[in-house]
Amino acid sequence: MNYKSELNANKVFPILSKTADNLGLECYVVGGWVRDLLLGRPSEDIDVVVVGSGIEMAEAFAKELGRGAYIAVFRNFGTAQVRKGKIDVEFVGARKESYHRESRKPIVEDGTLADDQCRRDFTVNAMAICLNSSRYGELVDPFNGVEDLQSGIIRTPLDPDITFSDDPLRMMRAIRFATRLGFSILSDTYGAIRRNVERMDIISSERTAEELNKIMRTATPSRGLMLMDGCGLLDKVLPEIAAMKGVQKYNERAHKDIFAHTLKVLQGVADRSDDLWLRYAALFHDVGKPKTKQWDETHGWIFYNHNFVGMKMLTPIFRRLHLPLGEELKFVKKMVDLHMRPINLCDEGVTDSAIRRLLFDAGDDIDKLMILCESDITSANREKVERFANNYQLLRLKLKEIEEKDRIRNFQPPVDGIEIMRMFNIPPCATIGELKTAVKDAILDGVIPNEHDAARDFVIARAAELNLKPAENLDSTIN
Ligand code: ATP
Ligand code: MG
Repeated sequence: MNYKSELNANKVFPILSKTADNLGLECYVVGGWVRDLLLGRPSEDIDVVVVGSGIEMAEAFAKELGRGAYIAVFRNFGTAQVRKGKIDVEFVGARKESYHRESRKPIVEDGTLADDQCRRDFTVNAMAICLNSSRYGELVDPFNGVEDLQSGIIRTPLDPDITFSDDPLRMMRAIRFATRLGFSILSDTYGAIRRNVERMDIISSERTAEELNKIMRTATPSRGLMLMDGCGLLDKVLPEIAAMKGVQKYNERAHKDIFAHTLKVLQGVADRSDDLWLRYAALFHDVGKPKTKQWDETHGWIFYNHNFVGMKMLTPIFRRLHLPLGEELKFVKKMVDLHMRPINLCDEGVTDSAIRRLLFDAGDDIDKLMILCESDITSANREKVERFANNYQLLRLKLKEIEEKDRIRNFQPPVDGIEIMRMFNIPPCATIGELKTAVKDAILDGVIPNEHDAARDFVIARAAELNLKPAENLDSTIN
């Protein structure tokens, strides 16, 4: 099979071809681009392997692209990246690798194309297409990657125990590719992951998290987690999630398997949203359940305060995994904390005040919270699922109606601290905070509308109770 016309569909390849010929260097496009071409999934990133100096080739290619081309050279690694607009090509010299037991950084020597293909992680990632004019478009596939692509199989080119022990990150990559492409991992390869799980210890948590994020971003993150579980990677990378597995019985009454439920919720969220952090919120929403599980004579299995306990577990988990500790963590915490609230607002008799409080606490994340809660209905009882879905739809309507009326989502106090200081001619003090909280509560409870004048009158009345006297020039203190 020749891929000349497929190469020519991208203007980069004729330029690469000419550059390689001019330098007299043997040159191939390799890895992900070739895999995705054969799968009919066009990809932008191009990896090029050069038998000789990848950097020399990159420099000549950048020159050939002319103005606007940008080159980054990584001499330590013998690689270089050239970018111009949408063009993004990475160059590496063909290499042979050997490994030390305590590091995933290999000792590197120059090698042939065949050597370079042997060091690649999976057969489907080890295919190369020649770019030199004499063999332009020729596929070099020493490990039958084409066949594995057709059968949907992830397999290492060499002995999987050695491949994974050399660079254990490849185990996470195996899960990632199997998940993303909907492939199965060959049993011998999967068994080798199980045998080498402990080797994950030499991988930095940043790299692990990068792979985990990629798994979480696929269309089927629940399958990724299941695959991680089947080979022991889940216990290693996410022990708190692994702890949710299993069912306990008391008096013949079992609770549901929290892990199985979590995977359904995660998948439900992934089907409805691409938001990575909402997906993490789904993964962690019940993480507090194993710790809070109790048998109660009246209610059966209960998980008292599991949302709060789960929220508290997140900072150490995020820190260990090197996931971002800023806005992202704050968001996931908020979702985990609030995930029980909407279900309690589905009753007929729920007050507007309770709805305003939820809008206030969730703010602009209310829609995401509703997606999480809607995905959290995983009962096998169809009638029950429909009833909950209807209730949530009604709740969404109520949320919309009250938001339109009271504008709580982006709540800004209609009277701020500075205005209060001026109104009573007082310096910054705790009373101002108390008055502001009182205004907020009065608005959320529907005592006063979310409007400036009403809030100001309310502050004056409340201040009188505290024996605070208005400033003499009260009328001119309006902010
Ligand atoms: P993606 O579409 O996610 O970029 P990719 O296959 O291009 O997929 P990269 O991580 O960009 O994946 O790596 C490019 C190529 O380099 C891979 O196809 C594979 O041949 C090789 N490779 C990358 N990481 C490893 C690794 N840890 N061990 C062996 N080979 C690797
Ligand atoms: Mg790539």
